[in-house]
Amino acid sequence: MNFLWGGTEGARKIHCVSKEVVCRRKDEGGLGLTPLKVVNTCFLAKWGWNYKKNPNKFWGKVVSSLHSSWGRETFLPIKNGRRGVWSNIIKAIKGMEESGVRLEDLIMVEDNRSERRMDVKVLDWCKLVPLKVNVMAWKANLGRLATKDALMRRRIGISSSECVFCREVDESVEHLFTGCKVAMVVWQAVARWCGLPKFFVFSVQDLVEAHFQIKSNITRRKRVQAMIYTALWCIWKERNEVVFNNKVVAIPNILCNVKCLCNFWVSCRDKEVIRMGAG
Ligand SMILES: [Zn+2]
Repeated sequence: MNFLWGGTEGARKIHCVSKEVVCRRKDEGGLGLTPLKVVNTCFLAKWGWNYKKNPNKFWGKVVSSLHSSWGRETFLPIKNGRRGVWSNIIKAIKGMEESGVRLEDLIMVEDNRSERRMDVKVLDWCKLVPLKVNVMAWKANLGRLATKDALMRRRIGISSSECVFCREVDESVEHLFTGCKVAMVVWQAVARWCGLPKFFVFSVQDLVEAHFQIKSNITRRKRVQAMIYTALWCIWKERNEVVFNNKVVAIPNILCNVKCLCNFWVSCRDKEVIRMGAG
């Protein structure tokens, strides 16, 4: 996770997003990363699941014959004192139960994944741009980029809180990507390139969901999404150049980068474009 935390063995950096959020599933607003210990427990527990779902498989019958004991009905058979792989699996499942997750409940309860938590911001991940761009959009959507207002909230000393592009208001994620005049010029250009009416966006969430509003086929929607995510990336990169390298903001550069990077990334990833190029 060091790429996300930005730290190295010798230096610790700010953790903008908590581990709890990072480890949530993507459709619940996280990155879908899972601690290895949890992965191992899940793999072990899956054998318990497999046993209940496929009781007539040969290995299941072997487990039954080795571990069933007359007169003592348990959810999964286990003969105390008998060591081996199955005992380790049962130990892992019991460990899960102690932390409140019962395999029995998971098997019985209907899959209710469709009931999404309303308070969670879920990003529609774009396969046409690199993962780093998606992660940056995800952080922006959660309001967890290290903008000046966020640094001030964390009591990290900075000389000024004003937006480095317009120098008119305090820098926040929403201002940088929607309210700032630099951002507005970028979105006007993006709308023009995509053949869309002018964007009226008030939050990063409006931007990362804008492609859902387009009445067109999925290919076009995905390409518009790629353009918007690329533009978010380029605005953030330009902002960092100004903050850390004292560069003067140059809107034509941002626009050129958005166009070039988006075309490059999409042509590398979109199978249809590759097919057309090969033909
Ligand atoms: Zn500004």
